[in-house]
Amino acid sequence: MEQKNLDQIIRETVARYMNRSLIVAGNWKMNMTVREGMEFLEKLGPVDGKVMIFPPYTTLAVLAGEFRKRGIIYGPQNFHYKESGAYTGEISLPMIKELGCDCLLVGHSERRSYYNETDEEIQKKIQAALKEGFSVMLCIGENLEERKSGQWKNVLRKQLEKDLEGLSTDRIPYIQIAYEPIWAIGTGVSASTEEIIETHRYLKAVLSELTGSDIPLLYGGSVNEKNAADIGSCPGVDGFLIGGASLKPEKFRKIIEVSKRE
Ligand code: PEP
Repeated sequence: MEQKNLDQIIRETVARYMNRSLIVAGNWKMNMTVREGMEFLEKLGPVDGKVMIFPPYTTLAVLAGEFRKRGIIYGPQNFHYKESGAYTGEISLPMIKELGCDCLLVGHSERRSYYNETDEEIQKKIQAALKEGFSVMLCIGENLEERKSGQWKNVLRKQLEKDLEGLSTDRIPYIQIAYEPIWAIGTGVSASTEEIIETHRYLKAVLSELTGSDIPLLYGGSVNEKNAADIGSCPGVDGFLIGGASLKPEKFRKIIEVSKRE
C-alpha cells in the first residue's frame, strides 16, 4: 500500500462520510425485466440520499437514463476484467462505461459459489474496474460452518487481503465493502445486531490496517423494512446491500426513509 498522501485521503474520506445517510443498495439479481424495472421506479418515486441499484444487464442498459434522472447510482452485478475478446457471454468494462455506470458489484457469494469465482479473479476485476475509474462494492462473507466453528474472522480477513491486494492509495475512496454472511442471504433471518456489531468492529479494524482508511462497510443478509432501523443503528454499519426487499418499491422506500440521517 502506498503511503503517499495518506493523511489527505483519510481526511477527505472522513469528511465525505461525516453525518452521512446510510447507503441503500439493491441487488436485483436475475429479477426485473425492463418493464418491471420501469414500474418499480415509477412506484418508488423520488429518492434522496445515496441509493444504488444493481439490475441485470438488459434492464441496466435500457433504464440507465431513468436511474440517472432519479439520482440513483447504478451498475452491473458482474463484469469481466479483460477489455474485449473471445469470452462468450461476458460483459466488459468499456461496455459498462458506455452506460454511465458508477459503482460495480463484485464478489457476491452467489458468483463465488455458483460460478466458482475465486479471490484471484475478484482481485483482477477490482484492479481493472478501479483503473477504469469505477467505484466497486466488494462482497465478502462466511458460511454457516465457518461462523459456528469460529473461523469467520480468518475467512473474512483472507477475503479482504486477497481481494484488495495491490490497491493503491489513490483508489481507496472508490472502495466499499458489503459484509454478507452467506447463512443470512435470502433466508429471511438476518444476523443478530450483536453479531453485526462484533463483525463490523472486526472488519473496520482489518480494513483500517489494510488501507489506513475508514472504508464504508455495508451489511447485507435479509435486511427488510422492519429490521433496517435496528441494523442501521449498529455502530460500524454504513448502509445495506439488499436482495429480496429491493424488489418491492414500497419496502425499498421504507428502508431509504429509515436510512436518512440529516
Ligand atoms: C444479497 O443477495 O445480496 C442479499 C443480501 O439478499 P437478501 O437481502 O435477499 O438476503
